[in-house]
Amino acid sequence: DNKSSGRNGKLANTKHQQSIPPHLLRKRDELLPKRKALPIWLKVDEIKASLKKNNVLVLTGETGSGKSTQVPQFLLNEKWCTRCIAITQPRRVAAISLARRVAEEMGSYMGSQSPMAKVGYSVRFDNATGPNTKIKFLTEGMLLQEMLRDPVMSQYSAVVVDEVHERSVNVDLILGFLKNLVAGVEQSGKKRDQPLKVVIMSATADVEALVDFFDDSGASEKTLSASNDDADMKDALEQAVTSRVSKCFVEGRQFPVEMIHLPSPTQDWVESALKLIFQIHYKEPLPGDILVFLTGQDTIEGLEKLVNDYAEGMDNEVPKRIFEPTPVRTRKVILATNIAETSVTVPGVRYVIDCGKSKTKQFRSRLGLESLLVKPISKSAAIQRKGRAGREAPGQCYRLYTESGYAEMEERTTPEILRCDLSQAILTMKARGVNDVLNFPFLDRPPRDALEKALLHLLHLQALTETGTISEIGLKIAKFPLTPTLGRVLVEAAKPERDCLLDVIDIISALSVENVFLNLVTEERKEEASEARRELYRREGDHMTLLVTVQRYAEEQSDRKAWCIRHFVSHRAMQNVMNVRKQLRQQCQQLKLLAPGEEQDMKAPSEERTKNVLACMLRGFVANTARLMPDGSYKTLNGNQLVAIHPGSVLFGKKVEAIVFNEFVFTGKAWARGVSAVQLDWVSEVIDSIL
Ligand code: ADP
Repeated sequence: DNKSSGRNGKLANTKHQQSIPPHLLRKRDELLPKRKALPIWLKVDEIKASLKKNNVLVLTGETGSGKSTQVPQFLLNEKWCTRCIAITQPRRVAAISLARRVAEEMGSYMGSQSPMAKVGYSVRFDNATGPNTKIKFLTEGMLLQEMLRDPVMSQYSAVVVDEVHERSVNVDLILGFLKNLVAGVEQSGKKRDQPLKVVIMSATADVEALVDFFDDSGASEKTLSASNDDADMKDALEQAVTSRVSKCFVEGRQFPVEMIHLPSPTQDWVESALKLIFQIHYKEPLPGDILVFLTGQDTIEGLEKLVNDYAEGMDNEVPKRIFEPTPVRTRKVILATNIAETSVTVPGVRYVIDCGKSKTKQFRSRLGLESLLVKPISKSAAIQRKGRAGREAPGQCYRLYTESGYAEMEERTTPEILRCDLSQAILTMKARGVNDVLNFPFLDRPPRDALEKALLHLLHLQALTETGTISEIGLKIAKFPLTPTLGRVLVEAAKPERDCLLDVIDIISALSVENVFLNLVTEERKEEASEARRELYRREGDHMTLLVTVQRYAEEQSDRKAWCIRHFVSHRAMQNVMNVRKQLRQQCQQLKLLAPGEEQDMKAPSEERTKNVLACMLRGFVANTARLMPDGSYKTLNGNQLVAIHPGSVLFGKKVEAIVFNEFVFTGKAWARGVSAVQLDWVSEVIDSIL
């Protein structure tokens, strides 16, 4: 019978097809001893026993102790685990790479590769799961989306919430929903037919706050131990308790890390980082890689160029010493953002350089705007960064700030929910039937005025009705993995009188990736790029330019990569754009906003079509509009804030009556990014229709 099996996917599920191919087995056996050496294996019995007894477990342990990869495997064969296990991750990269790793460790295929795959992942615009997936890594946003469709999460036996210390808004929502679910509260009229097991994992969580949050039954472990000698009392209490919480702490491996602070503060920390990299490289013994914490793509690219230039300069000296043996001295330098704080494990690091800052989302409720600001990190983040130097051997951590700079840092990073725009969060709650958002179980309750601002914004978008319940439009928006603003743009474009959905999908896809156009450093290259992109640039602004770029790329049949190089466009970004575009089109078809097979008119957009596209943008981004002042500056219509067109915009330096833009960037001053020129009376029209 085995002979007939072959690789026929359709048959793979039958009894005779379960054999694992040798190469996967070999890999699995090779990895097993490494897994067993991870600190978390000392706790395997404790973890299993805790979850047998209680439904909730709060598990803390340093990065690299094996939480994300091992815990789901520990749970897999437990008696209660008859269905799937979900593990959430704040970032898609982590979800994908963890799924690959765990599949390897289990000797399984991954995702949609084979129907036999036991491990899969689901991230925005990419779902790789199969019928036999038992362990599923997903981003927090995807779990929330699943919760909308199935409020009691009937396909899961357990949900593992990883990296809770990052405290994204989505994690806080998930925790609130899970709290109700574990307590057996009915969800949209439904109840679970078996208990849900919940594991909360993190590197540095405030354990007690989490335990208290899940255990409001009035009988925590503390009370129980107090009544230890009264067995009857203990039994009674134990019976009364419905959702008791266990705790587990995994000791990590940590070698001593020597700390070096700056003697006096510096503004130019990129320069300081450069010097330190080469100082460490020359003076310190090998091996030992350097991990540098920076703020974002801009500083990473800037420092990368400096390091490369400097290293090249060194190579030029080699010919002089041509008869000497070549000094082989290489060291890896990893330039990262705070992603490397806890979420990815980078082996080989012995030196950490910490700039002490990170980009954080900040909602400025006075302006009603959300923006990314470079801010000092918290002490707990600084300690995490330092820890990365001592994972494998004693290490060193260079802080690009002073000791008193450290002393002034806040203890913990403020949870995102206390400093971000809450409209997406509220829309998610409303769509899931939570009408009274002010009384939702928040781990940290956001300020009332932030909640009210968000409610108002949703009302303006017509996502909520006058009475605050979710509207038809709101329900549609909530089904898209987009901000409510972008979701509103999409829904507007589907209206018959607008009739430009495919165009708007192209633009939103391009806005969903980091940068379609390559960032160029020198003036010369910048000019060269402008020349090459001339045929793509549109005087209406960035949105139409992105539309034309996506259309031209999509039309290109022969060599898309060469097309990108010719136009100084990022091929990688465009591949992502095409993927998002495909998914958004599919979702629009499922929601019947788009007829299957509907074709895009690829002709250069007419004036009529352009106007419609921009009207859709305005419908969502009406809060992000500004008008030209007599002195040539721009001021926002809502709040009279001074704003300048970002140098990366095709409208940079141009003077137009009014603009609509996607985001505010603050670097020294307020910049508008993703800008289109509009007429002032179009803006007034939209404002009138709202008020
Ligand atoms: P934690 O969740 O506690 O940070 P992980 O389970 O992510 O720990 O990692 C445990 C170990 O597994 C790491 O130290 C690393 O050696 C290995 N590992 C994890 N993810 C990967 C991966 N994607 N590729 C290779 N090795 C990995």
